[in-house]
Amino acid sequence: MTGKVYLVGSGPGGLGLMTYRAREVIEMADVILYDQLPGDDVLSSLPDVEKVDVGKFGGKHTKEQDEIELLMVKYAKDGKTVVRLKGGDPFLFGRGGEEMETLHEHGIEVEMVPGVTSAIAVPECVGIPVTHRKFASQVTFLTGHEDPTKEESAVNWKWLADSPGTIVILMGVKNLPNITKALIDNGMDDKKPVAIIERGMRPDQRVTTGILSDISDKAKQVGVKPPAIIVIGEVVSLYRE
Ligand code: SAH
Repeated sequence: MTGKVYLVGSGPGGLGLMTYRAREVIEMADVILYDQLPGDDVLSSLPDVEKVDVGKFGGKHTKEQDEIELLMVKYAKDGKTVVRLKGGDPFLFGRGGEEMETLHEHGIEVEMVPGVTSAIAVPECVGIPVTHRKFASQVTFLTGHEDPTKEESAVNWKWLADSPGTIVILMGVKNLPNITKALIDNGMDDKKPVAIIERGMRPDQRVTTGILSDISDKAKQVGVKPPAIIVIGEVVSLYRE
């Protein structure tokens, strides 16, 4: 009998924002594939079953991803109940979509267990709503993984700089100087408020605020490090220290 794979979101950190369903399937698992993003509280709460830290795989990014997917397939073909545990929600910049596709291709049953995404919850927990009737009726989730200075950008920076509302950037720490420059060069108000929340919902959470023109210098000064959520927009003005 072939096993089943659960693609599980663990939420933004801590046990409190893990769903009931996530907890339920974790208790059913024969093997859990995890990386470090769920955080210590979640990882130390996992049951005593086989666990594989797939964040530690060597090699190039795509190879790692292939290896993770094939490992899930292998365990499932061995008849195991597999939990692939991911930070936040599996389908928001979590490569959950790709993993689902591979499992489908191999004819393996897969169930998605959505998680509370850091993109909304991390700003929320410091008092920044990503939408607000007065300030933002739309919100754009952006991966900052891509360097905006490269020629074939998947992001339409002009459209983004012109669009009203909130921009929430994940994986954007390294490219922050290029991102702020791309937005300003494309006409966004350089006084637009910005907040960076590092290690949201963890004991060492830190918030750094500024405006579009000075936030990357400030981030450099205080040594901002991933994982962090960057929020750009008027909603940041609601933040109280
Ligand atoms: N699927 C995840 C995101 C994966 S991409 C989700 O829905 O939350 C990884 C990025 O998520 C990190 O680089 C960071 O930008 C963000 N992130 C995840 N957890 C975070 C946390 N607790 N605090 C700050 N940023 C976090």
